[in-house]
Amino acid sequence: MNYPRLDIDCGKIHHNAQFLITQLSLKNISITPVTKAFLGHPIIAQVLIDAGATMLADSRIENLQKMTESGISIPKMLIRTPMLSQAASVIKYSDVSLNSEVEVIQRLSYLAEQQNCRHDIIIMVELGDLREGVMPNRMIDFVREIISLPNITIKGIGANLACRYGVAPDDQNMKILSDLADGIEVTFGISLEIISGGNSASVNWALQRTGLTRVNNLRIGEAIFLGCEPLEQENIKGLHTDAVSLTAEVIESNIKPTLPWGNRGLNAFGENQRLQDRGVVSQAILALGRQDVCVSGLKAPNGIKIMSSTSDHLVLESSQKPLFVGETVTFSLDYSALLSSMSSRYIHKYFKAHKGAKIFQPGVSKSKVNIISYSSC
Ligand SMILES: *Cc1c(COP(=O)(O)O)cnc(C)c1O
Repeated sequence: MNYPRLDIDCGKIHHNAQFLITQLSLKNISITPVTKAFLGHPIIAQVLIDAGATMLADSRIENLQKMTESGISIPKMLIRTPMLSQAASVIKYSDVSLNSEVEVIQRLSYLAEQQNCRHDIIIMVELGDLREGVMPNRMIDFVREIISLPNITIKGIGANLACRYGVAPDDQNMKILSDLADGIEVTFGISLEIISGGNSASVNWALQRTGLTRVNNLRIGEAIFLGCEPLEQENIKGLHTDAVSLTAEVIESNIKPTLPWGNRGLNAFGENQRLQDRGVVSQAILALGRQDVCVSGLKAPNGIKIMSSTSDHLVLESSQKPLFVGETVTFSLDYSALLSSMSSRYIHKYFKAHKGAKIFQPGVSKSKVNIISYSSC
C-alpha cells in the first residue's frame, strides 16, 4: 500500500450522479457533471457517462483535451470563460463554452470559421455574486454585438452564484435569468435551448422548485462527488458523503508538552499561534502536509484532532489511545481538500470500480482489476 492515498469509490459517485440526474430530470432540469475536481480524469468521466451524463464540463481546456484523447467522446463544455490565448484549443476540444467577453467570442468565431466548424456559446449573466457575467442591463446590447458572428451559435444563457460571495440561488434571481432569456428571444427572433442556472449550490433550490422559471440545466461537481451542498455545507438527502477519503501514515508518536520552549518568532508560514498550557498530550505526526492538501479541508475521525501542519507534516493529538508508528488515519474531505489532493503528485489515487463498470483505462477498454491505482494525476 502506498501513502498518502486518496480512495475514490466510483460506485458511490455513480449512485450520486444517477440520483441527481434522475431527480432533477423530474423537474425538467438536465445536469452537466463538472469533472474539474478530478482534473478531468477519464475514469471519473466514464463513471459519469455510465450514470447517464450526456455532456461533461470542466474549467480547464487541458482536462477536456485529456478526456478527448482518452476516448471520452460525448460533448464537452468549457465552464471558465476562455483565455484569448487558448481560443484555438477551445474550438478544438470543447463543443460549447461559457462566455462573457465580446472580444473572446469574436476570436472563437474567427477560429471556428478558419477550422470550418461551429462553436456553441452560453452567455453568462452577472446575478450578484460578482464573479463572471455580463451585467443584466447590458445583455441585449451584448447579444447585438455577437449575434451575426459567423460559425457561432448562441445556445443559451447562464449564471454562476455562491462561489465568490455565497449569494444563494432563489426564485427571484432565477426569474431574472429566465426573463432575460425571453427578452433576448423576442428581440432577436432566436430561441435559447439552454438556461444554465448554476452549480451545486442550486441543487436544493432545483429539487424544491415549482416550475416558475425556464432554468433547465445545472453544472454540478461537488454535490456528485461529496454529496454536499456548498451554501450551508449540508449533506443532500439520498447521496453518499463518503465517496472520497484520504489516508495517511503515522511517522512519529510521542507524549509531548503542549507549550513550545525557547524564544519564539513567527512559524515557517508567517503565523503566530496563541497557545495555552494543556500539560502533556499524545501527539502523532503523519506524513502529509500543506504541499499535498489544503489541510483546513480535512476532517479527522472521532477522538483525533488536527493541531497544525507544515509543508510535509500533519500534527495530530489523540484523546484516546496513542497512535502508533505505521498506523494510518483516514480523513474525509471538503471540496478544497479534494481539489488540492487530486492535484498533488505525491498523493496516490485509488479508484474502486463501480458495479457493472466497463473499467476504463486509457488504451485498455476492459480489465478484471477492481482497483486501479494512479501515482500521478
Ligand atoms: C466549478 C464550477 C461549477 C461546479 O461547481 P460545484 O460547486 O462543484 O457544483 C459550475 N459552474 C462553474 C462556472 C464552475 O466554475
